[in-house]
Amino acid sequence: MLKVAKFGGSSVSDAGQFRKVKDIVESDPARRIVVSSACGKRSREDHKMTDLLYLCHAHLTYGVSCDDIWRSICDRFVEIRDNLGLSYRVENDLESFRSRMNADMSVDELVSRGEYFTSRLMAEYLGFYFLDAKDCIFMNFDGTFDAGKIASSVQEALERHDRIVVPGFYGRVPSGKIKVMSRGGSDITGALVAAAANADLYENWTDVSGILMADPRIVEDPRPIPKITYAELRELAFMGASVLHEDSIQPVKEALIPLNIRNTNSPEDPGTMIVDRVETEGSVEDSSVITGVSGRRNFAFITVRKRNIISNSVLRKTLEILDKYNVPVEHITLGLDSFAFVASQTALGANMYDIISEIQRTTATDNVQIEENIALVAAVGRRMSFRPGTSGKFFSALGSSGVNIRTISQSADELSIIIGVDNSQYEKAVRVLYEGFTKN
Ligand code: ASP
Repeated sequence: MLKVAKFGGSSVSDAGQFRKVKDIVESDPARRIVVSSACGKRSREDHKMTDLLYLCHAHLTYGVSCDDIWRSICDRFVEIRDNLGLSYRVENDLESFRSRMNADMSVDELVSRGEYFTSRLMAEYLGFYFLDAKDCIFMNFDGTFDAGKIASSVQEALERHDRIVVPGFYGRVPSGKIKVMSRGGSDITGALVAAAANADLYENWTDVSGILMADPRIVEDPRPIPKITYAELRELAFMGASVLHEDSIQPVKEALIPLNIRNTNSPEDPGTMIVDRVETEGSVEDSSVITGVSGRRNFAFITVRKRNIISNSVLRKTLEILDKYNVPVEHITLGLDSFAFVASQTALGANMYDIISEIQRTTATDNVQIEENIALVAAVGRRMSFRPGTSGKFFSALGSSGVNIRTISQSADELSIIIGVDNSQYEKAVRVLYEGFTKN
């Protein structure tokens, strides 16, 4: 059994958090690979190490001294080292790095040092081998990954060392230079390493006990989702739930490795398990109908009217216009003499009126109406397809709470039902669905 445990910035923010990480890692011998972010915030007012490093780079670029910021960075590493009684002379390496820092230093190399030094300290503390990401995370110039080379170097390292720590967030391009990923990229490193090592489980340790069933700013104390499929997660994330970025789960998803989101500050919580498919659902009665609710505000509803709309190719022509302006269509409702599509107001942006007039011209109809401030709310759940009458209950719950549904769409695989409501009824709709469907 092999598990890859990735720890986010808040899990490694100070010596106390390092101790929690060690307890977690040592409580399960299968946790043989640790991927670490850079130290995150210790309090709300604190700064992430990565942000401080970006700030250093900005100072260097503008010829302003970054000495104060650099000192606070060094102090943090030294404090962790001293607090944990480690022997790594981190100040020496920081000092020699500082002597190379100038306006020409690449921003990627500079900001990658957050993960580098945090992981060096972590490796000594855990007694694990430090495998630099520049020696195992091979990236192409366009930021894509060389999975074959990553797999051989990770496997080779594991043959020689039983337990390893890999810094997240960066890798190296073919020229040998360091390249960083997008912000939060350590999640990607964790997934890449898990796939490369053919791990049985990828654990992503953070500061929440899993993915919540609804936005906690709308629903009070929503329950965490115990188990979710990658397909459901995609639907929830697409509709606005802030969960792991899709790129970051792709490597483990493809390799069919389950992903467990866990809480470093509450390690006894089971967190959320993300799996390819759920083999045995258990008793349908003891699980809630929906897996989660999410949504987004600010969509526009555009209705095009013309007699016999399908045979006049109006739909095709309209979609071509939207495509030309790079506007994704969220959904379409179709009637005999009219259709309406929903698109995000941000995507329509400043082109909104050009698009409408082009639709009018191309399809020879002046009957195009636009209505803004629509919110889409998705109820996602693989179990909905097991239960006849779900959508009926759904709509009556919304109706009896006074939520007026403007559009309805259900995906053919019955994985989600998406409704459109006025922006002003968005929060109410989310609450009604959560409260109505989390109970059996
Ligand atoms: N340290 C990087 C960031 O703050 C990457 C990460 O934490 O995953 O974005």
